[in-house]
This record gives sequence, C-alpha cells and structure tokens, in this order.
Amino acid sequence: MTPSRPPRSSPNEPKRRVSERRRDERRRSVQATDESINARMRGRQYLGVMRSLPYASAAGLLNTVVIGLASPGALPNLMVALWMAAVIALTLVHLQAWQQWRQKKRSEVATQQQLKALTFHAAGAGLLWGGVPLVLVDQVGSTQQTLLMMSLAGMLCTGALSLATLPPAAWTFMGAISAGSLLAFIASPQMIYAIGAVQWVATAAIAVGVGAALTRSLHARVSAEVKSEHQNQLIGLLMRDFAEQGSDVLWEIDGSGRLRQVAKQFAYALGRPAEALNGKSLMGVLGDLQQDMADSDRESTLALHEKLTEGHPFRDVQVTVKVNGKQHWWSLTAKPLVDERGRPLGWRGVARDVTQARMADRRLAWLAHFDTLTGLTNRAHFRVLLEKALQHSRRYGGGGAVMCLDLDGFKNVNDTLGHATGDALLMEVGQRLRHAVGNAKTDVVARLGGDEFAVLLRSVSEEDAVAQVAQRVIDTMRPPCRIQGAEIPVRASIGIARFPEDGLTVDEMMQHGDLALYDAKANATGSMRFFVQRLGEQVRRRLVLERDLREALERKQLRLHFQPKVDLTKWQVLGFEALLRWNHPEHGEIPPTEFIPVAEEAGLILAIGEWAMIEACMQAARWPEALHVAVNISPVQVMAQNLPDAVRHALQLSGLAPHRLELEITESVFINENRSTVSRLHALRRLGVAIALDDFGTGYSSLAYLRRFPFDTLKIDRAFVRELLVSRDARAIVRNILALATALRMTTVAEGVEEPAQVKVLEAEGCDIVQGYFVSRPIPADQVVPFALTWGDRDRPSLPRDFQLGNTQMAELATVMPATM
Ligand code: C2E
Ligand code: MG
Ligand code: MG
Repeated sequence: MTPSRPPRSSPNEPKRRVSERRRDERRRSVQATDESINARMRGRQYLGVMRSLPYASAAGLLNTVVIGLASPGALPNLMVALWMAAVIALTLVHLQAWQQWRQKKRSEVATQQQLKALTFHAAGAGLLWGGVPLVLVDQVGSTQQTLLMMSLAGMLCTGALSLATLPPAAWTFMGAISAGSLLAFIASPQMIYAIGAVQWVATAAIAVGVGAALTRSLHARVSAEVKSEHQNQLIGLLMRDFAEQGSDVLWEIDGSGRLRQVAKQFAYALGRPAEALNGKSLMGVLGDLQQDMADSDRESTLALHEKLTEGHPFRDVQVTVKVNGKQHWWSLTAKPLVDERGRPLGWRGVARDVTQARMADRRLAWLAHFDTLTGLTNRAHFRVLLEKALQHSRRYGGGGAVMCLDLDGFKNVNDTLGHATGDALLMEVGQRLRHAVGNAKTDVVARLGGDEFAVLLRSVSEEDAVAQVAQRVIDTMRPPCRIQGAEIPVRASIGIARFPEDGLTVDEMMQHGDLALYDAKANATGSMRFFVQRLGEQVRRRLVLERDLREALERKQLRLHFQPKVDLTKWQVLGFEALLRWNHPEHGEIPPTEFIPVAEEAGLILAIGEWAMIEACMQAARWPEALHVAVNISPVQVMAQNLPDAVRHALQLSGLAPHRLELEITESVFINENRSTVSRLHALRRLGVAIALDDFGTGYSSLAYLRRFPFDTLKIDRAFVRELLVSRDARAIVRNILALATALRMTTVAEGVEEPAQVKVLEAEGCDIVQGYFVSRPIPADQVVPFALTWGDRDRPSLPRDFQLGNTQMAELATVMPATM
C-alpha cells in the first residue's frame, strides 16, 4: 500500500503565518501548564479520597455498630436509629458514588466542584460523628463513654487518613468531630471529653500538618509530571516543526529495536503507513525493503546493526532500501535514550535522504574512470590499470602490450560532417574495438580522448599474438561505418609497445606506443607498427612541427611563394602557382611536403588553406590582368562543406576576377569520393574559377577520374617529366596523357620541367604549358611582377644538335596504362 503524502502545512499558507501559528501554539502550551497542574492535582486529591472511600465507609459502619451497641437505653432508640440510619444512608450515598466512579473511565483531572462536593460530604459526615458526643453527653456510663471515645478516635483517624489528600475536607471532618467533643466538654465538663477534645484537636493538628505535607509533595509530583508531559508535547511540536520543514525525518525505536511514535514523514519515506510500522522492528522493516537488492547493498544495514549494538551515538550511517521500486539511500544519525538511572530505553534519531548526493558521487566516480561518450575506460583509469599491470609484471614476471590507436582522417570527419557524426563514429569504433579485443576480463579498451584509443593486452605478450590481435582490430574497422545514411570509411592505425621489453613505466609505455603509432600513420593508413628505438627522433620532430604549426599562422611564419607557368606556344608567363613556405624559427625552412600532411592530420589545414587562398587572391589582384594564380587545395578542404564559400569570400575580399583563379586538387580527393565531392567541385566551377587536376599520373586509377569531373587543366606529375628524356615508357605515357587531355579539351601543364630538352619534347608532344625550375623556382611575392615583365626578354631554349626524340610504341603504352582507361 502506498501511503498518502504526509500532511504538511497548506502550501497556500504563507510561511510567516505558519511560523506565527506555531509560536502561538507553543505559548498556549506553556500557559496551559499551570491550569493543568491544578486540574491534575485536584484529580489526584479526588482519586486519593475516592480510593479510600470504601475503607472509610467500612470503618464508619463498624463504628456506627459500636455506637449503636454502646448506647441502648441511654437514648430513645428512635434517635439512635435515626442517627444510624443517617450514617448508613450517607455511607450508601458515598458507596454508590464510589461505585459510579469506579465504573467510569477515570479522569486524570477533577473540578473544583467535585472537591467541594467531597468537602461538603466530609462536613456532613463530620457533623454526624461530631454530634455523637454532644448528644450522648451525660447519657451513657463511663464504659460506653470510653467505647464512644474510641469509636470517635477511630473515625478521626479514618478521616485523617482517607481525606489526607484533601486537607479542607479532612479539616472540616476532624474539626466537626473535635468541635463536638469540645462542646460536649463545655456542656458537661467531664474529663473524658476534655481528654478527647484535646487529643482530637492535637490529632487534627497533626493530621492537618501531615495532610499539608502530603498535599505539597503530591503537588510537587503532579506538577513535575505535568511539566514533563508538557515538555514532551513541546518537544513533539518542535519535532513536528522540524520534520515538516526540513529534509530530515525523525525516528525512534525502543530498547528492543521496535519503532515507536513513527512520524508520518518517516513512514512515507519507508513507503508504509505509520500504523503499520509502529511496534515493528526497525531492522526487520529495513530487511523487508531490501529483499530484491544486491548483497553489497544489503550489507549497508549491517553497519547500522553494529552501531545499535555498540550503544554509542552515531552519525551518517548509510543504508539503502527500495521503496516503491526505487532505490533510496538514507543517512541515519542517532543517540541512545536512557532513563534516569542510565538504563537504555531505545534510540532517537534523524534520517536524511541522501540518494541524490549518493547518485552524484557514483556518477562522479564513474566519470573519473570512464569515458562518457563510449563508456570505455578513460585515460586516467587506463594509466592506473597499466601501472598495475606493469607492477604485476615486475613482481611475478610475464608481460603484455599497449596498443595505441588512432583513426585516420577522423578530424576531417569532425570538421566536414559535424561533431554529432564524429561522436557517432567514435561510439561505433569503441564498440568494434571492444568486440575485436574480446577478452574483457584481462584486456582493457580505453578511449584516451578525441579519436585516440588504447588497448592494454594482458592476455597475450608474444609479438605474433599481439600482432594477431592488432590485425583483428584493423580488420574489424575496415567496413565503412553507416551513420545517418552516410558511409564513412574508417581506418585505424595501431602503434604497439610491449612490456617489459619496450618500457617499464606508464609514461614510457604510452610514449613508445605513440611513437609506433606515428610511424604506422606515416607509413600507410590502416597499418600497425611495433615500437623500435629509432622511431623516437623522427616522430619527435613531427610532434614538434604539429605543436608549432598551431601558432605559425598567428606568428606570421607562413608565406606564399609563386612559381611561374609559361605558355609554350606564345612563350609567355600565363600565371603563377602559389606555394606555401614555412620559416620555422628553429628548424628553418620546412618544406610543404612535410608540414602539409601534419596540418591535415592536426586539423589545421582548413585555417591554413583559407589563409593561403585569401593571400594568393590578394597578391594576384595586384598583378597585371593577364596573369592568373593557381592555389593548391587539400582534399580535406574539398571535403569541407564551406569550400565554395571560402573561395567566394577570398574573391570578394581581394576583388580578383574568378576566371583568374585556378584551384589545384589532387586525385586523392576521389579516394573517399562520394556524390557531394563531385557536386562541390561543380559548385566551385559555377563560381567561374578553373579547376586543375594536380600531380596527374601518381594516383591509383588516374584516368578514371578524368571522366568523373571535367577538369579545366591537367598537370602532369614531374615524375614523368623527369623520366621523359631517359624512359621511353614515360614518354609514351606523357604522349598518351596529352592526347587524352586534348580530346577532353583540357589544358595541359607539365610540372617539374628543369631542362631545355624537356621543354622541346613537351612542345613537340603538344603540351600547352610548362612549369619548373627551367622557368623559375618559386619566388617571393614581390618578385612576381618584375619576373613576368622581364620574361619576354628570355629566348626559347634551343636543342642540342644530337638531340632526338625516341619512337613511341602503342604496345608499350598498353602495358603501362591502367585498365580503367
Ligand atoms: P605541387 O602542387 O605539385 O607543387 C609543385 C611542387 O614542385 C612545389 O614544391 C615546387 O617547388 C616543386 N617544383 C616545381 N618545379 C620543380 C622542378 O623543376 N624540380 C623540382 N624538383 N621541383 C619543382 P613545394 O613548394 O615543395 O610544394 C610541394 C607540395 O606541397 C605541392 O605540390 C603541393 O601539393 C603542396 N603545397 C604547397 N603549397 C600548398 C598550399 O598552399 N596548399 C596545399 N594544400 N598544398 C600545398
Ligand atoms: Mg600544385
Ligand atoms: Mg603538382
């Protein structure tokens, strides 16, 4: 059963009003104390009298009989009979009243009227008994007088005792009897009445004193009781305040561990009605609420049990229970309760729901060990586990390996397809990795950050076995990832360091794994490399370059040089190719062939490429109209969605006419080709810029690309140009390429032309343009215009007299041209 929510102060009642109401309640409670003491005191007095009433009545009846027996003949029987009847009647009234009182639910309190009525009855009885000596004076003999006096003495004592708690009644009763004796003595000054009177007055005085003392102590006791009750009530009120307003809930158990006075909040917290919990064992209730919980959680109550057994106050003992299907954590703080002699009475304490804090702690602990995206072990925890594995290996022998893993081109996926796709890809990779490694008990798969993953292999350490696992990882990664309909190719490169051979510390192992990884990446995508000592120097330089390249742009260490292109027919400079130069403050000039791949890998190529594009356009805008500029574009830039925007921006910024700009792309853009690559090239074309295919002939299935996109220009790689004069094959290929380009109406450029003979051959084969050291090395921007203006002064190269072109054979060509042609 689900208890209803405990009543709290009405939500609509303003907080101030609630607290005022509470204060009033407390004030009223204190004021009520005095009145309660009086009422309770009266109740005790009433109780004292009523309790002794049957005994007093019995004593009265006995003495009535004695007096009746002592008086025959002395008085007219009627008087005695009447007196006796009056006493008996009064006694019966008293007994009936007693009987009624006994049957009623006894009240703790009594009213003034009730006490007055008792006093009135005592007075009546006193008068009846006090009248005895007065009436019987001189009427009876000395023996009867003695009997009479004894009876009256007995009644006096009976009155003193039975009315002791109600002094006014006792005084009235005893006063009446004493007065009767005194009057009897005055009427007939016999010694016996004098003695009786003195004795009774003395007895009455003593009884008054004793009665007063008794009343005082009774009063003290009653007021202590009432005050303690009120204190308890006050505590109750305060506790209610506390329970209703705070997040803490009060609880109390008795000496045998049973819940008592279960507060509604506590009952609510335990998901049961308070009535069902009262009297139940606390440990039993907790046990019930832990039924379908894990052993480790159930153990939480053991600590509580221990504390309760020890008997000392305790703080923040945490127990967990399941309430209405939801796990809660409670922090219990309590103090033992003892009676005035120090004997244990139970426990009183507070319970606080710490579920939220506990969850937060757990989450923090989880976050401290695991990667949120993939759920794999994180870097910090991986290092701890590696440290343990190394320690184990040092102590007990055995070994293992660390595989460092990195996704090739991941940064480009992130840059071009967005972070959401990047995240999805990382998750997929994490899963594949876990699957490929397999042995979750001994081996650890971790994501160190970004697209860096690592595996700690403890199940295998032999080079062959490790290589097998690495190969399995590479193979598992091979199928492209399908993310939001797109197929994204994944290639993982793996660097492996083994322990104890390659390192004894975590840092050494990680560093060596990384070095091997860099080597793997530099070698080929999707490959693995084991660590070898020589890797250090190479990779370190690459790392330094990556670090420094990040700042190269801001520090203006990058410049553009321009290499002219010359039209073979007109022998004119047509334009220049912009080529990046990096002047490193320590390492001097770094060739773009070295730093461009680093920039691509480090995700810096977009910024660098954009800068180069703007810079090239700005420079070209200052050149004579006839000169165009060619800018190299990395495949990463082609994949980036904003390339057309970046080009448009550069054109607008510089004011350069689009037809004067040419973009050089390499055929590697087609390796990961999808429809958007080609459509992006078309978008660029629509801007009015020309597009050249650079380094033609170095790719895998070169000629097939020419059909996919109508390039404006085809640049024949300098590898062919270099061979042109020595290899008939190369010459055949060049001739064929030129024929093909002409057929497809593309302008042809031969790169890397260094010698006049090469110019002659290319001219003869029908090449349109030459570029190379023969014309000029790349030159700084300020030399471009002077170079172009003075170019016309230079003669065409003349061929040596013995120079002869070799014969081209088509059969030869067929063996070297790719099948895709
Ligand atoms: P590329 O686009 O094929 O540029 C031609 C390269 O050949 C240049 O090297 C140039 O200096 C060199 N070269 C020109 N004529 C001769 C010659 O007669 N003999 C020899 N041996 N070499 C010659 P560089 O400047 O070192 O550039 C290398 C590569 O770096 C470029 O090849 C291009 O792929 C890349 N690159 C340069 N600048 C940029 C840029 O701004 N963006 C991008 N994405 N890549 C660039
Ligand atoms: Mg180029
Ligand atoms: Mg080139």
